[in-house]
Amino acid sequence: FCSMPDKANLCSNQSSVNPSAVPYKRSSNISSLETLQLDGYFSFDHIDYAAKDFGNRYHFLPLAVLHPKSVSDISNTIKHIFKMGSTSKLTVAARGHSHSLQGQAQAHQGIVINMESLQGPEMQIHTGELPYVDASGGDLWINILHETLKYGLAPKSWTDYLHLTVGGTLSNAGISGQAFKHGPQINNIYQLEVVTGKGEVVTCTEKQNAELFYGVLGGLGQFGIITRARISLEPAPKMVKWIRVLYDEFSKFSSDQERLISSKDSFDYIEGLVIINRTGLLNNWRSSFNPKDPLQASRFISEGKTLYCLEIAKYFSPDESDIMNQKTESLLSELSYISSTLFLSEVSYVEFLDRVHLSEINLRSKGLWEIPHPWMNLLIPRTKIIEFAQEVFGNILTGNSNGPILIYPVNKSKYSHTRNKTINFPSIFEYYIIKLIFPSHCRWNNRTSLITPDEETFYQVAFLSSAMPSSTGRDGLFHILAQNQRILDFCSKAGLGAKQYMPHYSTQEEWQAHFGLQWEVFVKRKSTYDPMAILAPGQRIFRRKY
Ligand code: FAD
Repeated sequence: FCSMPDKANLCSNQSSVNPSAVPYKRSSNISSLETLQLDGYFSFDHIDYAAKDFGNRYHFLPLAVLHPKSVSDISNTIKHIFKMGSTSKLTVAARGHSHSLQGQAQAHQGIVINMESLQGPEMQIHTGELPYVDASGGDLWINILHETLKYGLAPKSWTDYLHLTVGGTLSNAGISGQAFKHGPQINNIYQLEVVTGKGEVVTCTEKQNAELFYGVLGGLGQFGIITRARISLEPAPKMVKWIRVLYDEFSKFSSDQERLISSKDSFDYIEGLVIINRTGLLNNWRSSFNPKDPLQASRFISEGKTLYCLEIAKYFSPDESDIMNQKTESLLSELSYISSTLFLSEVSYVEFLDRVHLSEINLRSKGLWEIPHPWMNLLIPRTKIIEFAQEVFGNILTGNSNGPILIYPVNKSKYSHTRNKTINFPSIFEYYIIKLIFPSHCRWNNRTSLITPDEETFYQVAFLSSAMPSSTGRDGLFHILAQNQRILDFCSKAGLGAKQYMPHYSTQEEWQAHFGLQWEVFVKRKSTYDPMAILAPGQRIFRRKY
């Protein structure tokens, strides 16, 4: 197990080990890889880019980058390393779009597989009653969207940003504002093709090789490389009514969110934002939205308070806009937001889903995209969210925030409990019966490797901070990391039962605590599918065996 103290790896552009210090092993590894018959090829030079990711904090230089053209390129490479056994220390990391935060898609002196160069069969879209698309593990979600739209179809569950690969998000979960309705992306997969840590190519579904199927979903790349995924589709809407409203009380805000995710005929997308940065407030959160009542909106003064912005969307086709507007108004009439802060917008489905890309273009133009991103994602049980909000937004983060803070609840099943007494829900007993008889009512399948809090409803809270390079102030990396740590310490001291999403730990004890009762299953899956611990070393869960 490899433990890396944070400070030693911060903001370094160099690999932490000088490759020339191991010349013999390096050259013997290179020559052994050069003997492989491949459709694609290896690069051994100019591979510094593979030691970089979106987090921009961890930099591990690999020995080689594989640009596979076929699944057998991946399989042959892993088989070769597996057969070398103890004579090789090589590890293998699949690199999707490298939007990891702490080097998870890197392999120190190992092999990085550039998944985007994988050329499998073309993306195939199947129409019919249960439509799906067969896509490569290296396909970007934005490309899947454009291809499936040609058939009037689209995936159901998304991430907020679509320039990520299928394999990359399925290794985590893929959670966004549709997850309350459809579950995360990992719950919308019918079939996977996976190359295991022994180099075997295995097709798996919930019935065939089910242990591998569930293991890989949310499995942090530990059990196999996803080379193909069958993703469930639905008829794609054309337009989106996109709405933002503000609250100045967290309890009202979260109560409305919980009401909305639990109501049968609700919005299609539900998220939320915490607005701590008071300066520029009215310019930022509502830009590209129109106030419902401009006069009232102009009178709204935030008074320097922390505000909570509910973000919701309703999909529609242009010929049904009247019905959609009625439905939307009726849903809004039940909410307790500050009435002068209703802001609306109508955009195409593609514009809505690809919204973060616009921010990317903007930030890139200012040189603010490729800077350190000390992001932290937490899953907080519903019954603890008020306690969490009081301490974190009322005490720890009272000054400026260094980036958006997202917060929204999701239900594990279609039936669940809520603080709102106005809606009738089955008892917990009924819920378990439903789960037993109708497993399809469970949106968050608990056989996957994803770890969530024990409660039926939990909040995804994402602190999406950017750190100003070389700043030692409140917008600098060390300050933000210290703030993140304060939040983690609070969660643990207060016994909130929080879980990290896209987890990052430095010791195996912490990993064990993260997985809890699932740790044994995780370890067993590892010894079955990747017994030499060759895969995804950047997650730093297991040590390479040799
Ligand atoms: P990489 O960073 O390349 O890889 C991630 C991990 O998966 C690594 O361990 C890698 O080895 C492994 N891996 C990659 N490809 C494969 C494969 N084919 N088979 C097996 N393992 C593989 N996440 C959400 O859930 N919801 C969001 O709304 C969301 N929004 C985001 C917005 C932005 C701007 C960014 C930067 C990230 C966001 N994320 C979100 C996080 C994102 O889902 C993860 O970081 C994801 O891993 C990125 O995909 P990638 O293709 O860049 O993966």
